[in-house]
Amino acid sequence: MKHPGIGMTSQRTRARLVERLFEQGIKDVRVLEVIRSTPRHLFLDEALAHRAYEDAALPIGFNQTLSQPYIVARMTELLLGGGRPRRVLEIGTGSGYQTAVLAALVDEVFSVERIRGLQDKARGRLRELGIHNVSLRHADGFQGWADKGPFDGILTTAAPLAIPQDLCAQLAPGGRLVIPAGPEQSQQLYVVTRLEQGFDTRAIEPVRFVPLLPGTLR
Ligand code: SAH
Repeated sequence: MKHPGIGMTSQRTRARLVERLFEQGIKDVRVLEVIRSTPRHLFLDEALAHRAYEDAALPIGFNQTLSQPYIVARMTELLLGGGRPRRVLEIGTGSGYQTAVLAALVDEVFSVERIRGLQDKARGRLRELGIHNVSLRHADGFQGWADKGPFDGILTTAAPLAIPQDLCAQLAPGGRLVIPAGPEQSQQLYVVTRLEQGFDTRAIEPVRFVPLLPGTLR
């Protein structure tokens, strides 16, 4: 076992986390169940694993953070929108935790990460967990992943200043983009839905994300 000792206590702390998310307004039972069953501690360095079931954002190296469970749950719930999107694009693989949550709820996940070191680690963890409906790509996510589109859902886990048109363009009709956007101190979470003609953009709540950055890193 990778983190000996965490197994026994984690059942209880995971149940507590899920109760808390429910109280905070996460009502989709599919999402709550996946948060309960996904081993978040395996997506963190050993020194932080004991904090995995706190509702907190935690560092994953390269100046990046694993989002707090509340925001992972909220964004996932918004992406599902009561249905079951088949093909989903994620921008910002990071630790791979949100990727694993999505993989349990949709048919296929495509995930783009600009930092190779994070992508490599995420790939190893997903493989260890036996998650095979995920394709990873090392690239700048501002352009999405046009070859694999259109997508029923797109979820971005880092914030651009404004919503990138390239991402909206890769939505299938009825598809939704869940994305934080805005300057660092005043970001909002948005849901953009592709209508038969044009898009419907809705602001959901204030959030705080790391910035979506251009280019790639080794
Ligand atoms: N979903 C991740 C959150 C990681 S934080 C998790 O569950 O751990 C956001 C991630 O977005 C970081 O890994 C960062 O490197 C990545 N990122 C930032 N700008 C990007 C871009 N233009 N393209 C792809 N990934 C990007």
